[in-house]
Amino acid sequence: MNATHAHRKGRVSLVGAGPGDPELLTLRAWRRIQDAETVCYDQLVGDPILGLIPNDARRIPVGKVGGGPSTSQDEIHRILAREALAGRRVVRLKGGDPFVFGRGGEEALFLARLGIPVEVVPGLSSAIAGPAAAAIPVTHRGLSTSVTIVTGAAARGADPALRESWAHLARAGGTLVVLMSLRRLQTILDTLTAAGLPANTPAAMVQAATLDDQRVVTGTAACLPQAVATAGLGSPALLVVGEVVRVRDQLHTLVGPLAFEQLGQNVASARGGHDAPGDAGDTPIHAHDARP
Ligand code: SAH
Repeated sequence: MNATHAHRKGRVSLVGAGPGDPELLTLRAWRRIQDAETVCYDQLVGDPILGLIPNDARRIPVGKVGGGPSTSQDEIHRILAREALAGRRVVRLKGGDPFVFGRGGEEALFLARLGIPVEVVPGLSSAIAGPAAAAIPVTHRGLSTSVTIVTGAAARGADPALRESWAHLARAGGTLVVLMSLRRLQTILDTLTAAGLPANTPAAMVQAATLDDQRVVTGTAACLPQAVATAGLGSPALLVVGEVVRVRDQLHTLVGPLAFEQLGQNVASARGGHDAPGDAGDTPIHAHDARP
């Protein structure tokens, strides 16, 4: 189908909303949201960013609502096409970057095949910005010269091909960032250590990076699952495995959590009450004390 008069001005912008803090939206993302007539958004996009949608725009949530099933990918495609073909400026708003585990590529292809104008507005991926917000550099001279971003969703341990790919990751060295890893944390780390990752490799779980409820738990590949369970971390959260996790601990030792928050996060003032000693807010949990 070619472009018709009906959707001459209709178009879809696949917009990355960044890790959560609205200040980490790009200027272009902000402009597209302000200009939108329809916004189709995921569960990962929170209220501070949804609050930027104009009052007269249609809002279409397509993520899981109340733990129920999420809208199917086919249905999302249909909604996007319908709105654009009606001549609307459509924003498809996704957490992080639309092309990092966001199915943005599938949506772009579907729309492009229909002749609907589609653009991609890159966003800050939580895979990079999440560790940074937790003071973990994904690369660091002398510690890591590479970073691998994977999904934990596939780590079940049973499939030999998958076990093989996790075994490669265990041996790859460098930094490993695992998205969608909270529920399978124990399996993921067990699989990696069984494949040769040293059990005392530093590891961290970062919950709600850049948001008011950001919390970070550090430890080792061996002890992190227990520490995360004890701290009661919830979604969204990502796992970082590698020597770079030590940099966060070093920074904390040097400047302390309070000064440190002001270094890295503009939400520090909003979280002013969260720095009390013993609070897991941004205070390191010394699960790594178990490390030799
Ligand atoms: N496109 C997104 C990733 C989508 S997959 C991006 O580029 O960031 C969803 C996963 O992203 C979550 O399971 C979690 O692992 C991670 N994630 C997204 N936002 C996060 C945040 N603010 N803090 C921690 N993890 C986050």
